[in-house]
Amino acid sequence: MDYDIRVPKLTIKSFGYMYLAADESFAKKLRNNQKIQAAAGAATELLTPDGIKSRYPFYNVDDIKLGSINLVNEGYWDSITVFEWMKNKAQENGVEYVENEVIEIIKNKSEDQVISVKLASGEIITGRKFVNATGPRAAVVSQMAGIEIPVEPRKRYSWIFKAEKPLDRDLPLTIDPSGFHVRENGGGTYQAGGHGVHDPAVNFDDFQMDNDLWENTVWPILFNRIPQFESLKLINQWAGHYAMNTLDQNAIIGPHNTVQNFFFQNGFSGHGTQQAPAMGRAIAEILTYGCYKTIDMSAFKYERLLNGHKVIEEAII
Ligand SMILES: Cc1cc2nc3c(=O)[nH]c(=O)nc-3n(C[C@H](O)[C@H](O)[C@H](O)COP(=O)(O)OP(=O)(O)OC[C@H]3O[C@@H](n4cnc5c(N)ncnc54)[C@H](O)[C@@H]3O)c2cc1C
Repeated sequence: MDYDIRVPKLTIKSFGYMYLAADESFAKKLRNNQKIQAAAGAATELLTPDGIKSRYPFYNVDDIKLGSINLVNEGYWDSITVFEWMKNKAQENGVEYVENEVIEIIKNKSEDQVISVKLASGEIITGRKFVNATGPRAAVVSQMAGIEIPVEPRKRYSWIFKAEKPLDRDLPLTIDPSGFHVRENGGGTYQAGGHGVHDPAVNFDDFQMDNDLWENTVWPILFNRIPQFESLKLINQWAGHYAMNTLDQNAIIGPHNTVQNFFFQNGFSGHGTQQAPAMGRAIAEILTYGCYKTIDMSAFKYERLLNGHKVIEEAII
């Protein structure tokens, strides 16, 4: 899309993800990750508490053993604009979007092929290949094809606040050892996020906020980590759902082992946006050529759910 003058310039802010380790066990994971990331060409750096403090004087690092950050091409980008333009371009290239709900999946007699899906409008859509890309509702849609997958909606809260004394430089997306995170949001505002200790699967339509969590847990954590956040004003908040793969918090992608024209693009567990361009390309390749060409995604195949083979990432939100 680079060459299309209609496409707006993207907002990309490379303020990085600052992972903070308060114990040796997580510090070790950050060291291992840094080696892997550096070998793959990423500019991830490890910082001592003094190193963190000299770059970002606003942090309290009293309990911190190690930090990890990458300031090259890592941080925040405007995913909504990217999504809109991918959709616009796909439509220009002949893709048809139908706004409706799949309520039934119809298979052949031997149950090894999907032949059509039924929509809430009553319309039946037939096809040769079908992709389940239904986010937190992935398990419900898979069940329509008689297939179980361990994906469930888990509530994640977001809070936008304005600081009375804004920081004098960009706040990296900071992952506190408590598990809560906070990042720069522009104009003296910041975005924090996280979830309660009790983290059950929730109802698909449950977007209720937990006001106690902000007041009694998140704000004190933020204030402890960044004392300048002593005085702040909450200006917006919402709840969303992670499509949590309870096996290993990672994607399920590719065909089912027996219903071979039913494909998964599921279980992104809170990191689907950053993976979307690669995952989209991968599924397009496997639909078109029957194999991956650019990046081998077979580690994320459906069969691992059957043999319990986990693909674990050590530092994710
Ligand atoms: C609070 C929060 C913060 C996040 N932050 C990040 C982040 O910083 N970085 C990152 O990479 N990721 C982040 N994520 C995760 C990211 O948003 C998801 O991984 C990503 O949106 C998944 O995309 P998807 O296309 O798989 O699913 P979705 O975006 O959920 O899309 C699924 C679509 O399927 C449709 N659908 C469902 N059921 C049916 C049906 N029966 N028939 C027809 N259509 C159906 C839905 O309406 C929806 O349009 C965050 C998620 C949350 C909740």
